[in-house]
Amino acid sequence: MPTAGNNTYRWLLRQGERLLRRRARPAPCEDAAFDAFLLLEKVTGISRTAYPLKKNDSPTAEERAEYLSLLRRRAAGKPVQYLLGEWEFMGLPLYVGPGVLIPRPETELLVEQSLELLRGRPNPRILELCGGSGCISIALAKARPDAEITCLELSAQALCYLRRNIARHGVPNLTAVEGDALSPPPEIVGRYDAILSNPPYIAAGQLPALQREVRQEPAMALDGGPDGLRFYRSFHRLYPPMLSPGGFLLYEIGEEQGGAVSALLRTAGLQKVRVLRDLSGLDRAVLGFSPPNK
Ligand code: GLN
Repeated sequence: MPTAGNNTYRWLLRQGERLLRRRARPAPCEDAAFDAFLLLEKVTGISRTAYPLKKNDSPTAEERAEYLSLLRRRAAGKPVQYLLGEWEFMGLPLYVGPGVLIPRPETELLVEQSLELLRGRPNPRILELCGGSGCISIALAKARPDAEITCLELSAQALCYLRRNIARHGVPNLTAVEGDALSPPPEIVGRYDAILSNPPYIAAGQLPALQREVRQEPAMALDGGPDGLRFYRSFHRLYPPMLSPGGFLLYEIGEEQGGAVSALLRTAGLQKVRVLRDLSGLDRAVLGFSPPNK
C-alpha cells in the first residue's frame, strides 16, 4: 500500500518517467517524460491544463494498475500512439493501432502543398493511393468540403481505421475504396485534379535496422522493395494518364529518393517536376504537373 506522501498523481507520474528512462530495453524511451504524461492522461483523463490542480490528489488502485501495465508495454517497445489508440495529424485526432501506419508530422507537407495548389480550383477531384489511417485525405476533405476525394487502401486492417476515422470526422465528400494501388479497381475512373500518395518507401534491407517502435508498424506500409522505389516505379506508368490537364501528382518520398523519383515523373511526361523539403530541411516530396492541354 502506498503511504500518504507517495499516493499522488505527481508521484505516479515521476515513477512512470523513471520506469521509461531506466527500465526500457534495449534503449531508454526517447521522450520518457512526454510519453509518461500522455499515458497518465489516457488512464486518468487529467489533461496538461488540469494537472497542476490535480497533482496532489490520490489515484485509485485501478488507475495505478492500468498505468503500470501501459508503462510496461511502452518500455517493451510498443509505440505510445498504439497504446493511446489515437494520434493527432494537423490537429485532427485519428484512431490508430497495430496494423496501420502512425501519421507523421512530415506528411503534413503533402496536405499543405495540395491545398495551396488547389486554391482557386473549385470542386477538385482528388485520389489518394495507399491511404492508411486516412490522415491526408481527411485533412483535405475537412479543408475542402467542395472536393470529391477517393482514398484507396489495400490492407483490411488499415481500412478499418480509415473507415472509423472518416465516420469520426463526418466527411461525406471522402470515400474509402478497398483495393491495390498497383492494379487499381474499377472505382478508380475518370480524371483527377490531384493524385497523392505516401506509399511504402523504405528499402526492404533497411527494415530490420529501423527503430524498434517503427518495426511494430505494418511492414506492408513501409516496405518499398529492394531499393524502396517499387511503388513509384509502378505508379508512374499507371497514374499520370489519369490526371486532368494541369493536374498534379504529389508523392511523399524518403530523403534520398528525390533524384530517382523526379526522373520517373519526367519519364512519364510530367512537367515542372520539383523536389520539396520538409521542416527539417530534408527532401520529403516530389511534385509534377500534367501538361495543361493534352
Ligand atoms: N516516414 C516513415 C518512416 O520513416 C515511412 C513511411 C513510408 O514508408 N511511407 O518510418
